Amino acid sequence: MNRANTDFEFDDDAPLLEVTDLEVTYRTRSGGLVAVDRIDFTVDENEIFGLVGESGCGKSTVAQAMLGLLPSNGEVSAGSIEFRGVDLTDLEKRELDTLRWEHVSLISQGAMNSLNPVLRISNQIVEAIQAHRDVSTEEARERTAELFEMVGLDPGRMDDYPHQFSGGMKQRAYIAMSLALDPDLIIADEPTTALDVIVQDQILKRLKELRDELGISVIIISHDISVIAETCNRLGVMYSGKLMEYGDLRDIFANPYNPYTLGLQNAFPTLRGDQSDLISIPGSPPDIAALPEGCRFRARCPFATAECDTAHPPLEEVAEDHYSACYHHERIESMRTDAQRRRTWERLRDDATAGTAAVEDADD
Ligand code: ADP
Ligand code: MG
Repeated sequence: MNRANTDFEFDDDAPLLEVTDLEVTYRTRSGGLVAVDRIDFTVDENEIFGLVGESGCGKSTVAQAMLGLLPSNGEVSAGSIEFRGVDLTDLEKRELDTLRWEHVSLISQGAMNSLNPVLRISNQIVEAIQAHRDVSTEEARERTAELFEMVGLDPGRMDDYPHQFSGGMKQRAYIAMSLALDPDLIIADEPTTALDVIVQDQILKRLKELRDELGISVIIISHDISVIAETCNRLGVMYSGKLMEYGDLRDIFANPYNPYTLGLQNAFPTLRGDQSDLISIPGSPPDIAALPEGCRFRARCPFATAECDTAHPPLEEVAEDHYSACYHHERIESMRTDAQRRRTWERLRDDATAGTAAVEDADD
């Protein structure tokens, strides 16, 4: 049934996905920009892995690198991305085209708006199936109806055009398409960002159920830590091309070790009380064309000291399957308490407006 012939062979004993020392560089007129800077993570069978961080941190770049879908000026400049033991960065385009949809599906950021407006949704899914499988249109339509049911859409609507669907329905249709060829891993880049909270919740629940029913793994990428909190088993918190905190989600939420994670937790409503409790992290991530020498989060961190200017801190194991990159893990108890106070973060804003580089002695 499989049309394409491939030169790679999976190793069933290898982890589902193992990203090692991954570096991605974009060529620009002013030189190379390192958007993903030597990160490591693994995703296991039947796991939902979350990748979270503010806009511009490199999350979509990681997703695109996995399937060879980087923009033409982007390249994996170091490291490897092994899927069942096959390094995807070594594959040719033809091989990646085979792997995509069959083994790994990417629901890219804004995918639901990329459905072809002049084609019936059923025809788009049938086309995707027939591009990979030698099946009749009737068989492909049957599969499409089955996929509609899987994602909670009425198969009676499969011949509709995209404009007849709401945003949530379009996203479900795109998820249906991504499942068409039984992949083992789905990467969903900001799958619910444009949707209202209730629809977001339904879609995330559905992804979770699909994980259970089909035994697949999912990577959910989001700037919103509350989306990740309710859906994932494991988590990577990204900042400015680096992983700041990584590992078991429950442990990270119960015992966060990284000031950036503490800041993200304050900034989203469902995790801590109501809207009035929201405290945003002042400022924005550094320009990747002019990165500071020290910790990437240094300028926005209320707990930074002179040590943080030396170099970006390495990830350290702080508990089982729990890693954080910070020089101040030994002060974590007081940092957790202070991070919940609005004043802690506002002081940083005040200092920035006053023209001071950052708080020098804020915590000594
Ligand atoms: P995220 O998905 O976390 O918002 P991205 O992966 O889209 O972040 O972008 C990471 C960084 O790479 C950003 O600083 C962005 O401006 C830069 N970037 C993305 N695409 C390109 C490109 N084609 N050329 C140059 N820089 C890019
Ligand atoms: Mg993105």
